[in-house]
Amino acid sequence: MPVDLPTWGPQRLPVPYAAVWSGERRGSGGALVVRPRGLAYRDETPADRDRHGVLWARVIEEPGAGRPDFGAMHPVRQRAAMLGLRCQVCGGPAGRTSRGWLFLLPDEPAAREPEGALTTKPPLCSPCADLALRHCPHLRTPLATRSRKPRVWGVFGELFAPGAEGPAHFPYAHPATPWLLATQVVLQLTRCTPADLTRS
Ligand SMILES: [Zn+2]
Repeated sequence: MPVDLPTWGPQRLPVPYAAVWSGERRGSGGALVVRPRGLAYRDETPADRDRHGVLWARVIEEPGAGRPDFGAMHPVRQRAAMLGLRCQVCGGPAGRTSRGWLFLLPDEPAAREPEGALTTKPPLCSPCADLALRHCPHLRTPLATRSRKPRVWGVFGELFAPGAEGPAHFPYAHPATPWLLATQVVLQLTRCTPADLTRS
């Protein structure tokens, strides 16, 4: 672990940089309005949209406030880690070799083939990947992969439109993006090779 992470509980579990804390879930939303060209904030500023023009959920940034939710990511820190290819656990540079950046994919059927996989989980550095394997119950048998070209594919968010069925992945080219409220960046992992964590 390259930096001292905050810890939680009697077992002193290290809390990842990207994890959201309960105190950060207090509503900081701001009033959403429906405009002819899509969703907007009543008092919107340029900081409310990403460079593709997609609107983002407003959130408080106060890591350490309340309890950590190890299974959920803070939108601002998740986005910073995804766009800057920073480690989701320590926030430092993600592990990179000639084979690319290190990602851990959950053991789900959709993740069996990492090439082209979509993920909302930022990369990791090698020491933090070892740490995550020891502590994260949902990573019992993860797929470790390196991607030479993780590309920004789109966002995960909620569509404010009739018939919308809960949060989903949307590519940036999707025609419904004006009606989206984004909470996570989605990367597509390409030029993948298996990663051997014991040697990475
Ligand atoms: Zn790390």
